[in-house]
Amino acid sequence: MKVMKIAKSKLPTVDFNNLGFGKYYGDHMLVKIYENGVWKESEIVPFGDMLLSPANITLHYSQSIFEGMKAFRGEDGVVRLFRPEKNITRLNFSAERMCIPQLDEKETLKELMELISLDKAFTPSHLGSSLYIRPFIFAADPALGVKVSDTYRFMIITTPVDAYYGRKLQTLSIYATKEFTRAALGGTGHVKAAANYSQSLYAAKKALDKGYKQIMWLDGQEHKYVDEVGVMNIMFVINDTLITPTLDQGTILAGITRESVLFLAREMGWRVEERRIAFQEILDASKNGSLQECFGTGTAATIAPVGRIGYDDGKDIILNNNEVGPYAKKIYEQLLGIQYGKIEDKYGWTVEIK
Ligand SMILES: *Cc1c(COP(=O)(O)O)cnc(C)c1O
Repeated sequence: MKVMKIAKSKLPTVDFNNLGFGKYYGDHMLVKIYENGVWKESEIVPFGDMLLSPANITLHYSQSIFEGMKAFRGEDGVVRLFRPEKNITRLNFSAERMCIPQLDEKETLKELMELISLDKAFTPSHLGSSLYIRPFIFAADPALGVKVSDTYRFMIITTPVDAYYGRKLQTLSIYATKEFTRAALGGTGHVKAAANYSQSLYAAKKALDKGYKQIMWLDGQEHKYVDEVGVMNIMFVINDTLITPTLDQGTILAGITRESVLFLAREMGWRVEERRIAFQEILDASKNGSLQECFGTGTAATIAPVGRIGYDDGKDIILNNNEVGPYAKKIYEQLLGIQYGKIEDKYGWTVEIK
């Protein structure tokens, strides 16, 4: 792989006390081009703008996919990636659905590690912060006809970030919409296709206008069952049982955080159920006092406890006095403990960056 290093690092310009999400970028990016039926050799080059044709097919029709993963710096100074091979496998899974050619997973992981190693100094150190890594592939043909592109660009960029919802674990409010739909049966809800996100912005804006931070998505067929929250998977604690929607409808993104949380919960001996959850069941559980907690799970926010669920224009369910509950807190500590190297990684989830 060709590596062209930046002349002068931008590291001194980074305000590590005020990172936000996507304000600063690592010095380098990885670029790999697909042409004439093959992926060419990757290159690492200085991060910067690029030239695109105004007829670039992705700009018009979103034949594009992405991933999101994080590298964490522990108190020991070690930088660890969390289950990166899962993200690369999922990138190929998304690629298949969006008619994008497959990457070699082993080679991609190696190249990703090389990029992170080069820009490792951008990894912040306070708890909750991390180096967010964004691999993505987009169709590169300049062509206005709706068709499968013949050329693609795979890229990886990195950005040092703060915890998504602030440094302290706190609750957020969500609104269960019966008006809008994130994913339909047979659609692309189960893959990280760029188009899923632009089409969800309007619903999120409407929820924000009503005073809620995020949207709770119900199934697209009947608006009866819970699917996800914002761009996170969703979990409930009812009667001391951790319950999360099953993936078998093909409308839910199979989160790596979701899988890790379910695994850790089972390891700790919690009762866990993966099944469809009707919104009515949440309402009933709230009324009879058995609804204990709700939280979102995802790489960006890790664990996002929910304190208030709005529905039917003006009604609210309040969870655990709108405070972070013991289940969310416990799973947050376990997960971050492994990610930051504080708790022994018994499962081989973390990969050290040299
Ligand atoms: C990325 C994503 C998630 C979370 O997946 P992780 O692998 O845990 O980051 C959940 N839902 C949607 C819609 C997503 O895009």
